[in-house]
Amino acid sequence: MRTRRGFLLGAGATIASAAIPINRRAHAQATGAASRSKTRLILLGTGGGPRPRQSSMSTAQVIIANDVPYVVDCANGVPRQLVVAGVALAKVRHVFITHHHSDHNADYGNLLLLAWASGLRTRVDTWGPPPLEKITRLFFEMSAPDIDVRIADEGRVPLVPLIHPHELTQDGLVMQDENVKVTAARVEHPLVAHALAYRFDAPDRSIVISGDTHRSDSLVKLARGADVLVHEAMWVPGVDRLVAFSPNATTLKKHIIDSHTPVEEVGQDDRLTDQMWVDLASVHFKGQIIVAKDLMEI
Ligand SMILES: [Zn+2]
Repeated sequence: MRTRRGFLLGAGATIASAAIPINRRAHAQATGAASRSKTRLILLGTGGGPRPRQSSMSTAQVIIANDVPYVVDCANGVPRQLVVAGVALAKVRHVFITHHHSDHNADYGNLLLLAWASGLRTRVDTWGPPPLEKITRLFFEMSAPDIDVRIADEGRVPLVPLIHPHELTQDGLVMQDENVKVTAARVEHPLVAHALAYRFDAPDRSIVISGDTHRSDSLVKLARGADVLVHEAMWVPGVDRLVAFSPNATTLKKHIIDSHTPVEEVGQDDRLTDQMWVDLASVHFKGQIIVAKDLMEI
């Protein structure tokens, strides 16, 4: 059963009355086909929660600007999903983690390791909340037997010096290069101490990734004027069934409700059609809404 999934709120024909204002430039560009856009967004995983499912992978996205991939979140399966999407792992240079829930970071270390095993020889910068540096260091410590053998056996360059983790605790500029400017904002995702949303401003379009969050003013501010907002969403009636077999059902339900965003405040399980998600997400938003699916390109 799926009670949470990614949502896309993008510019469209009716965007003038959108809850999130989109400027004229963005509107004009967003009406073109995504394939004509220089900056691409591919949804690698659109499901919520850490349990592996047949229907979807947990959360990950890649933004490709000038043929450079910027990976946002690393749920279980992200290395293979990138390959399926046509992104060579050896080209990974930038990885962003929204928060340290396993449905967002389970394959963070594996992405770095498997990119290196796929030929990565260049620097990779990673960003996310604390303890990203410790997570990175301990992963490499755990993986040392494999790394050491491959350096000796396959002649690979040392992996550890290539990886540069950066811990984020404040709103503001994360990084800027010739392709994108990345800005982060802290969002509300109790009981997680640090959860972030990211905004990518490229010359041709701007894309915001909410991560997991309850309704958050900082996210509203971050997303203002963006062309595309990828927003998590929760179908509240499904939460009762989700927690039904938990020994901690009451507390768990409160946590889920408090830490995510009801779909009608932004927008499948087998009983929920895409149209039902869209109808609920349309309650307060009049722009174009796309129900996210794995490997969808926007
Ligand atoms: Zn979370």
